[in-house]
Amino acid sequence: MLILQPVDNAPWLAPYAYGIVLLGFAFFLFRVFENWYANAYDKPLYRHYFVFRKLDSKQVSILENEFLFYELLSKKEKRQFQHRIATFISEKKFIGRGGIQVTERMKVLISAVGCMLSFGRRNYDYGLIEHIVIYPDEFYSKINDAMHKGEFNPYGKALVLSWKDFEKGYQINNDNHNLGIHEFMHAMQLEARKSRDLDSTRFAKQFQNILKRLTHSEVKDKLDETRYFRAYAFTNQYEFMAVLAEYFIESPKDFKSNFPKLYTFTQKLLNFRFAGY
Ligand SMILES: [Zn+2]
Repeated sequence: MLILQPVDNAPWLAPYAYGIVLLGFAFFLFRVFENWYANAYDKPLYRHYFVFRKLDSKQVSILENEFLFYELLSKKEKRQFQHRIATFISEKKFIGRGGIQVTERMKVLISAVGCMLSFGRRNYDYGLIEHIVIYPDEFYSKINDAMHKGEFNPYGKALVLSWKDFEKGYQINNDNHNLGIHEFMHAMQLEARKSRDLDSTRFAKQFQNILKRLTHSEVKDKLDETRYFRAYAFTNQYEFMAVLAEYFIESPKDFKSNFPKLYTFTQKLLNFRFAGY
């Protein structure tokens, strides 16, 4: 028989308790500093905890042969990019529709476009996307009873793409049309509205800066005069950001020389500080 006496205090526990309190306090201070840093410098203190996943040689050769952005990265960034793509591929479900067979090439290239747009973020894996649905060509969408090249459906947690148009989007990399970037931006923007992490907070802040900038009369006049952004951008704020991202990714130099402030805000919003941007 064992009778345990209730103990009011267990002195041997005290050092551990102090330790835990101290650790908690250190963690709290770190979070305060991290938030201050992100706000002051418009970028996260760090983007990676661990980089350990690798793509296999076939996947890497797809990037090397077909994805220019990858070639522009440093050795370290390439490792990070590979890790992110591998994680993305393992987390998302790729589904072929309309008779298309999902290939490794499709998975790698779609993931590469998503991870490229989110490469400056810590949170890069698009929590609002679970399924990537691929059609061979334009597809019928019930949402507005029309043919679509792509859509992001937050209710079905699905990013839907016409493969033909996706391919054209990233292969012709200077015409400011990039279907993948466009649809991934929709998912990122909606996530920014729903989340409170550092990346979403930065998104919201820079998005406000962009909106404010658009109300300046000199910017308005220049937009009217040059018709720089295609008309579709002015459908609503979501389409504007999606089109802005396409221009930013595809012709940064041109964008910067036409609208330097808008460019800087977009760059900060994405924390896009690599590959010569
Ligand atoms: Zn759109």
